[in-house]
Amino acid sequence: MKQIKPVLDGARAAFNLGKTRPLEFRIQQLKALERMLTEKKDRFLEALQKDLHKNEFAVEVYEMTGILGEITLAINKLPEWMAPEHVSKSMMTLMDTVYIHREPLGVVLILGAWNYPLALILQPLVGAIAAGNAAVLKPSEVSGNTAQLLADLLPQYLDKELYPVITGGPEEAAELLKHPFDHILYTGSAAIGRIVLEAAAKHLTPVTLELGGKSPCYIDSNCDLDVACRRIAWGRYTNCGQTCIAPDYILCDKSIQDEVVKKIGSTITEFYGSDPQKSPDYGRIVNQRHFRRIMSLLEGVNVAYGGQNDEGDLYIAPTVVTDVDPDSRIMQEEIFGPLLPIVTVSSVDEAIAFINKRDKPLALYVFSHNKKLIKKMITETSSGAVTANDCFIHYSVLALPFGGVGKSGFGAYHGKHSFETFSHRRSCVLKLLGMERVNSIRYAPTSDSKQKWILWLLKQHGGGKKMQFIGIMLLGVLVSIVMKLFFKW
Ligand code: NAD
Repeated sequence: MKQIKPVLDGARAAFNLGKTRPLEFRIQQLKALERMLTEKKDRFLEALQKDLHKNEFAVEVYEMTGILGEITLAINKLPEWMAPEHVSKSMMTLMDTVYIHREPLGVVLILGAWNYPLALILQPLVGAIAAGNAAVLKPSEVSGNTAQLLADLLPQYLDKELYPVITGGPEEAAELLKHPFDHILYTGSAAIGRIVLEAAAKHLTPVTLELGGKSPCYIDSNCDLDVACRRIAWGRYTNCGQTCIAPDYILCDKSIQDEVVKKIGSTITEFYGSDPQKSPDYGRIVNQRHFRRIMSLLEGVNVAYGGQNDEGDLYIAPTVVTDVDPDSRIMQEEIFGPLLPIVTVSSVDEAIAFINKRDKPLALYVFSHNKKLIKKMITETSSGAVTANDCFIHYSVLALPFGGVGKSGFGAYHGKHSFETFSHRRSCVLKLLGMERVNSIRYAPTSDSKQKWILWLLKQHGGGKKMQFIGIMLLGVLVSIVMKLFFKW
């Protein structure tokens, strides 16, 4: 195992030199990251093809575009994000400079999962660099080709000390977690999330947990089923179902179940041909362990479409399962594979009750022509995010925070939210040393009138320019009263 402590010490020493503080340095590193992705695109394609059977379309659209979009946004917006944020003042601080200063946290740790092995390491990294941190990266060992490539290429483009890559599995991750970090962003399962949180607690390290869970998808009968089924099939079967925000199961009325199966089936043929195993657009299960886990979820359920598999090729066909018992195993854990169970419900209220009885999901999907029904679903449930009449799309909007709630995780990133996640918002009040006589009303010896004035002053908050103008006028009056009352001027 690579010696971890010297690497961490190196990152901390480089951070302490203040290298990451200037805007220019951060932009230069972000541009270098962008260059790495464009110059070495073919090598990433090769690694991701080996790890997950991803083709060029899948790599460009689902891995690289998000990272490149984040880089462009950060480069354009960094001067604005880094600028002091002036806030409204209280009457007590009317003459002072009051603002929020975003400062880097220090050395952060980013632990990525294997299903989007590039995006889940580099998208958070963009935020960490933008916010001026050093970042230690631990890509998933499960997608080993991509992990190794990141370890080989990143030091050729980015500052070697500030952004080291540690490869390896649970042993290396556990060793890393023994050390103090200033923030940890972890993406992966809840089971390991608990281990990360426990380790972080020892050092009081703040944590962002990007977890998963079962994301429900409700199809209202008042809906364009052709469009809904096409979008749901896209959401479920992209990357062979190994997407944290994939629709995990469908809730719909029994009267439309058969039609949903038929339409998802014809969409699968439209997307991947009559034999998806031969399609360059259809992925593979990441390894044998996951293959067997997913196949075991099919025991005792009613396969209405698909179900074919080939362990040697880690292939599981796009599959739909009907009339699923809510207590069956397939409904107890996140599927993270190309199986789509349908649970029938008789109304939207029953669907809402079903969702609310379970852990809060990472994403929730609702398909309907009825805007009131969509709003009702949003109001009466909770999830990391909601997309109505489509899947995944909220992930692509960088202005939206991406993260879970409850058991699907906490904290969020993407766009400016990443910058905030990796920054400390430092409150700054810059006073002058003058006007000490006015300030005297807070010092002993106290009196009833001093108390009245100070309480009144402390209650005056906020307001825009007009309030500030009135405040300055009032302050002027106050100063003269204070002078008269207490200093007999
Ligand atoms: P994984 O096995 O790749 O593990 C994630 C990370 O944890 C890896 O870097 C791994 O090395 C590390 N790890 C493994 N064992 C560890 C240990 N004992 N201590 C510390 N770290 C350890 O990924 P996974 O857990 O199989 O990921 C799948 C889960 O991740 C699914 O639940 C999915 O929904 C979720 N996920 C969430 C998001 C999101 O953005 N919210 C994205 C992708 C995946």
